[in-house]
Amino acid sequence: TSIPRITLNNGETIPQLGFGVYQIEPADTRRSTLAALEVGYRHIDTAEMYGNEQGVGEAVRESGLDRTDVFVTSKLNNGFHSRTDALAAFEQTLETLGFDYLDLFLIHWPLPAVGDFVETWKALEEMHASGRVKTIGVSNFQPQHLRRLLDETGTVPAINQIEVHPYLTQDNVRAFNTQHGIVTEAWSPIAQGRVLGDPVITAIAGRLGRSAAQVTLRWHLQRGDIVFPKSVTRSRVEENFALFDFELTADDLAAITALNRDERTGPDPDQFNWIP
Ligand code: NAD
Repeated sequence: TSIPRITLNNGETIPQLGFGVYQIEPADTRRSTLAALEVGYRHIDTAEMYGNEQGVGEAVRESGLDRTDVFVTSKLNNGFHSRTDALAAFEQTLETLGFDYLDLFLIHWPLPAVGDFVETWKALEEMHASGRVKTIGVSNFQPQHLRRLLDETGTVPAINQIEVHPYLTQDNVRAFNTQHGIVTEAWSPIAQGRVLGDPVITAIAGRLGRSAAQVTLRWHLQRGDIVFPKSVTRSRVEENFALFDFELTADDLAAITALNRDERTGPDPDQFNWIP
């Protein structure tokens, strides 16, 4: 299978389908990531907050693949928003992964009440200028947070990674991203399993002879978003990768989009100011 790549606003490209490792135990991460690489995934989404960067790095090395053949994302944890802390945390992330460069580094949460994400973004601009990270972006940024970056700094984020799934279609944030050349990554793309019993989705899946997870992930891909479903179960890791030999109709896409109920599985970025 060849996974489509999306071109970012800095000219770099990213595989549209990846493997997420949130809530994979540090001790399991090397094995799970290696399995995903064996299945064919070439894009891994981790974060300092997940505590499992080391296993991701080990798996990439153990896979025998060239480092340049795997796209790896990590994220700056919430306690490290000041310039000095951010630069040090980035170096620590590279060291833990055992890499000499990162493909994508994101500010994990805006923490609006802390109020320092513009300084944090300028630190990411410095990391990018150093050549040690190819692409920089943000996660969980709302339009008003992005607006400040656009107005007060010189770099438009390449990516905004936000919660998106059929029960949270995120029309406003996705439209803002698109208008400004920012690619949307959809986290918790199957809402951690919550959408899989939805009768609209299971009916489409039945008609196509596909699983509800495959239909939901395919819906994201046809909307143009990047996804990285998480699983530690080999058969599901394979199932979530088999998305390129069927297609949803325009009516299927519209029916799934109409399921929106603005229901989050995770925190509201406007209210979330937690520092570990
Ligand atoms: P997800 O929507 O990918 O759901 C994962 C869960 O769904 C699994 O634990 C498993 O129980 C189930 N599942 C997976 N595949 C299945 C299948 N084929 N059939 C049935 N059940 C299946 O949820 P997620 O892990 O929260 O999100 C994916 C990735 O997004 C994470 O691993 C992480 O990389 C990223 N993420 C980012 C943030 C952020 O704040 N930036 C937050 C949450 C997640």
